[in-house]
Amino acid sequence: MSWFRRLMYGRYGNDGLNTFLLILYFILALMYVITKLLVFWILSLVPVLLMLWRMFSRNFARRRAENQVFSGLTKPFIRFFKPLSGMLKTKLAHVKDNTHRYFRCPSCKATLRVPRNVGKIEITCPACKNKITRKT
Ligand SMILES: [Zn+2]
Repeated sequence: MSWFRRLMYGRYGNDGLNTFLLILYFILALMYVITKLLVFWILSLVPVLLMLWRMFSRNFARRRAENQVFSGLTKPFIRFFKPLSGMLKTKLAHVKDNTHRYFRCPSCKATLRVPRNVGKIEITCPACKNKITRKT
C-alpha cells in the first residue's frame, strides 16, 4: 500500500462528508441496477466525482470548512437517531444476558441492570437517584 500512501501524500483524504457521498453513490447505483434508468447512473457520477475531487484536493482549509457545514446539517438527525440506537443496544443486551434484568429509569431514561431472581427489590438509579421498585 506504499504507492497509495505516496499518492495520498499532501492530499485531503477522507472525512464524514466523503463517506456520505460514497453512500449516496451506492444508493444511486443501486437505483440504477433496479430501475435500469440511465438517469440514476448519471446522477450517481456526481457524488463519486465530488468525493474523488475532495479526496485529492490540496486545499485542506476549504475541505475542512465544507465538512464542518456538513456536520452542522446532519447533527439534528444524529441527535434524533442516537436514542434509538441506545434503545436497540439495551434490547440486545437484554436478549444476550440471562443473569441480569434491565430496566429503564422512568425519570432520566438511564439503563439499570440488576441481578435476576432476587425477588422484589428497590433499585436506585445511579444517575439521578430516583428509586423504583421492580420484581426481578
Ligand atoms: Zn435515573
